[in-house]
Amino acid sequence: MSIDTQQETPGEWEYSPAPERTQVSIEPKNKLFIGGKFVSPKSRSWFVTLNPATEEKLADIACGGKADVNAAVLAAKKALPKWSKLDGSVRAKYLYRIARRIQERAREFAILETMDGGKPIKESRDIDIPLAAQHFFYYAGWADKLEYAFAGCTVSPVGVCAQIIPWNFPLLMAAWKLAPALACGNTCILKPAETTSLTALRLAEVIQEIGLPEGVANIVTGAGNTGRLLAEHSGVNKVAFTGSTEVGKLLMRGTAGTGKKLTLELGGKGANIIFADAAIDQAVEGIISGIYFNQGHVCCAGSRLLVEESILDEVVQKLTHRLRSLRVGDPLDKNTDLGAINSQSQLEIVQQYVRAGVDEGAQLHEVHQERLPSKGYWCHPCFFTDVQPSHTIAREEIFGPVLSIMTFRTPQEAIMRANDSPYGLAAGIWTDKGSKIFEIAKELEAGVIWCNTYNKFDPASPFGGFKESGFGREGGMQGLRPYVRLQKVRGSAS
Ligand code: NDP
Repeated sequence: MSIDTQQETPGEWEYSPAPERTQVSIEPKNKLFIGGKFVSPKSRSWFVTLNPATEEKLADIACGGKADVNAAVLAAKKALPKWSKLDGSVRAKYLYRIARRIQERAREFAILETMDGGKPIKESRDIDIPLAAQHFFYYAGWADKLEYAFAGCTVSPVGVCAQIIPWNFPLLMAAWKLAPALACGNTCILKPAETTSLTALRLAEVIQEIGLPEGVANIVTGAGNTGRLLAEHSGVNKVAFTGSTEVGKLLMRGTAGTGKKLTLELGGKGANIIFADAAIDQAVEGIISGIYFNQGHVCCAGSRLLVEESILDEVVQKLTHRLRSLRVGDPLDKNTDLGAINSQSQLEIVQQYVRAGVDEGAQLHEVHQERLPSKGYWCHPCFFTDVQPSHTIAREEIFGPVLSIMTFRTPQEAIMRANDSPYGLAAGIWTDKGSKIFEIAKELEAGVIWCNTYNKFDPASPFGGFKESGFGREGGMQGLRPYVRLQKVRGSAS
């Protein structure tokens, strides 16, 4: 079906505002969570966290320094012997309680996540927070079954874990890190990202409420330097990091030769491949959720769209039409599809990439016309055609709502183009032929491959990359492996 994109004028379809009105209180000064207590930073240093949709100050956050990191590592070390020797079923009870409490306080978490990070309330409410609770439920289930997960081995925890997370899925990333580590009997120090510490600190309240033994989970807020101090600390046995490839490489150098275990979940430049035989309307929805979900602040985003040449015009036409209907604006409005860019510095990065795309000769389609709010950090969702594989926008992670479209003629060319990237995190395949899906999927260098869908997550499903997207898996039974030491039982066949 062809759609006359000229017919629909902006403003023809109006939604009534549907703002989330529940008030969530935020402490004006947010302390560190060490040894089961909220404590003032010994560094005496604080930083401000803003609402990126309004640029209004939300609160002051403690900036952990060297003495604070020391105190947190000491607390985690002290708690380790008792926690690691607890029966798995008892550790599970604590994790179940955390999961249930997140569910009970879900609305508060969702609103806070949206205010602090800029993502639409419908995403924090329906995706981030429920998935965070599910991760605790899922790993609670494994806590007393570790011997079955690693048959023929005795399983022991790694020890004190330093966990550093980014700003794109703040509570969810905290759950991805803490749940498997605690289930396996480790103790943790979590360092949230500077712009999004509030839900991690609210999780600290939950940890206190449910009576998790002191020092088992500590939360040290701060800047990049706080993360560096934590990763470098000699009392840490394992570093788990999600963030940029650049910082991932620094951590790899820093931990080399120290005996610390390391897992890295880094950037991506996911290829979303649409074959001519795909259900095009569904594929267009998959393109939208692949790149515009969470404003494109997604490491596994389908940011490189590979379209079979014969259907390019149809896909571009339908994508243009769909893009015009996306609502960008107040993240607390339940009808909003795209919220605010997480910070001014990330907005500048995205804008630089858009300029690079234009300068290098790609064609920019800024078809989304809705007026953006005057305050806050905003970016129209957009896409580029006439993109060459050598263009910056085809090679580097933009981490914003910007899609690069390229074409291919044969399945072999699609595979070759998809793998032509330093990253290897995620990919998508759209076709109505099951055999084609298997043929293509086994050739793609990507840790996660979605078929006829995109950006779907489940705690039982492992997630992680190849090449410059990092190593190690989070989620699923595989997500336990980075948090255990295994010793083969003598005489075991496995
Ligand atoms: P970073 O990799 O700098 O941040 C991730 C986390 O690491 C944050 O908690 C950060 O703290 C911390 N950190 C920063 N420097 C160090 C260090 N030397 N040692 C230990 N920890 C450190 O990402 P940015 O927030 O700066 O984003 C930059 C780019 O990275 C984005 O444009 C995007 O392309 C990519 N990115 C990728 C993510 C992914 O999931 N793959 C997630 C986030 C970003 P703090 O926040 O205080 O700086």
